[in-house]
Amino acid sequence: MTPERYAKILRVLRRRQPTLTVLMDEVNKPHNLSAIVRTCDAVGVLQAHAVPPRGGRLAAFDGHTFEATSGSAHKWVPVQRHEDAVSAVRALQAQGFAVLATHLSQRSVDYREPDYTRPTCVLLGAEKWGVSDEAAEAADANIVIPMFGMVQSLNVSVAAATILFEAQRQRLAAGLYDTPQFKDEELRAWAFEWAYP
Ligand code: SAM
Repeated sequence: MTPERYAKILRVLRRRQPTLTVLMDEVNKPHNLSAIVRTCDAVGVLQAHAVPPRGGRLAAFDGHTFEATSGSAHKWVPVQRHEDAVSAVRALQAQGFAVLATHLSQRSVDYREPDYTRPTCVLLGAEKWGVSDEAAEAADANIVIPMFGMVQSLNVSVAAATILFEAQRQRLAAGLYDTPQFKDEELRAWAFEWAYP
């Protein structure tokens, strides 16, 4: 580990946003999962969350496609696994996160409306089924990216990027990237983990 490399690790960690995360609910295509994790790294998400696809392991976490598409971002954004979406939503809420489900419902609002400077988790759904009604109900709010075309939905990684960069825009304006968002000892612990995985 060169001093320059360690300095870069510290620089990146000082901008990490422990109060911004995503929960991927059965996102099953490795390239989508990888692309979302890569966006998480770019925006400064410290840790992501996922529920593995039904009846399967989260192969994408270990497979070559994941590594190829995420451009090594998976090394810098650990993904915590959960058993099911509703219990994951509740666990994140218990940690103080407002969970925003990307889901069209009676109570959906435009994705630009919520205040992303508060602790926020964006819940993303499976390519085929989307977010389940139960998970959407358990969430604090439902958000949508307005669509005016012939096709009803975006690719999940495109939706994730659109929403996470809105969160980044709001957090930049609020100065949340200007000072470290966690304690010095935590930052050093993360730095050690990144430097000597
Ligand atoms: N048939 C699914 C449905 O009815 O929800 C479509 C799922 S879409 C291909 C996969 C995921 O991308 C969604 O669960 C959501 O997380 C995200 N997504 C796609 N389009 C979106 C939009 N316009 N607004 C918010 N999220 C969107």
